[in-house]
Amino acid sequence: MAKITAEYIWIDGQRPTSKLRSKTKILDGPVKKLSDIPEWGYDGSSTSQASGHFSDLLLRPGRFVADPLHRENDILVLCEVLNPDGSVHWSNTRAQLREVAEKYKDHDPWFGIEQEYTFFEGNRPLGWPDHGFPAPQGGYYCGVGADEVFGRDVVEAHADACVRAGIHIVGTNAEVMPGQWEFQVGAVGAPDIADELWLARWLLYRIGEEFEVSATLYPKPVKGDWNGAGAHTNFSTKAMRQEGGMKIIEEAMRKLEKRHDEHIKVYGAHNEERLTGLHETAPIHQFRWGISDRGASVRIPMATANLGYGYFEDRRPAANMDPYQVCSILIETVCGDY
Ligand code: ADP
Ligand code: MN
Ligand code: MN
Ligand code: MN
Repeated sequence: MAKITAEYIWIDGQRPTSKLRSKTKILDGPVKKLSDIPEWGYDGSSTSQASGHFSDLLLRPGRFVADPLHRENDILVLCEVLNPDGSVHWSNTRAQLREVAEKYKDHDPWFGIEQEYTFFEGNRPLGWPDHGFPAPQGGYYCGVGADEVFGRDVVEAHADACVRAGIHIVGTNAEVMPGQWEFQVGAVGAPDIADELWLARWLLYRIGEEFEVSATLYPKPVKGDWNGAGAHTNFSTKAMRQEGGMKIIEEAMRKLEKRHDEHIKVYGAHNEERLTGLHETAPIHQFRWGISDRGASVRIPMATANLGYGYFEDRRPAANMDPYQVCSILIETVCGDY
């Protein structure tokens, strides 16, 4: 037995947008399975999850991965928050996704999430001048060169860490606004996709500490003629991925249109600043889908339309959305009877 460190990570109760928290436990290792990892507790009154008089909350390990930043056998442990009696805490959205995913498991839903974010140094986006603005958007997306691209060393360290942790990261790119980036996770099922996205976010912030750069998921970090940050959520069921899948996808569009407002409610705070109808978005109060249309609420990729089966891309979720909630409602709407 050797000592290992386990970083217990959980999601707090801040509103309108919850935040990641973590603390470190020293354990006897190596840990082989989830049940080897003990439950733990913390002060919920310091995380907007309990009052000071009745503050103890429980951390139940839900998923663990290798800690890519420390020694061999060290781990990151993503936890669910429970009340002292073991019941699900109101802020625990993972429990709901677990239930929904179980109920509709025969549909075999897959998700791929494109997480956009913006690096900040002090109070301005990384690489922006002390005064005024950089040259207008146009050359930055997937750009190269020290005059166009800011923070690539952080992006590469993050992608490398995700791979070593066993997170299904599948790509990264520089975005339309300078200092803004994206990584993609998936396609995997639920709740795994959402666990991995939260862990990847945690790693992004943690690695940012090393570079003295912060990352924000705010959906419209700079007002004006600058792109906002989204979390496009790509979705498919088994039936969509097979011959004739396009019919099922069109059926899904009808259901998504019906429940547009309910979806927007859980697609992230301040999303109205981003979903304006400009900058590759559709207006927040409209639902529109289209093939290869980046101004639509939902886009059917060209390859899916050509093949006649595949997946769709929900472009509405903001970068700061909770993937447990977004995945839950997508499964419910598309696989349920609406
Ligand atoms: P975009 O062209 O919108 O920038 P990206 O390449 O950034 O697209 O992201 C596409 C995402 O779609 C990836 O996360 C990928 O894993 C996911 N994806 C691919 N196929 C499927 C599928 N059948 N079901 C769900 N997600 C999928
Ligand atoms: Mn993308
Ligand atoms: Mn993007
Ligand atoms: Mn996209």
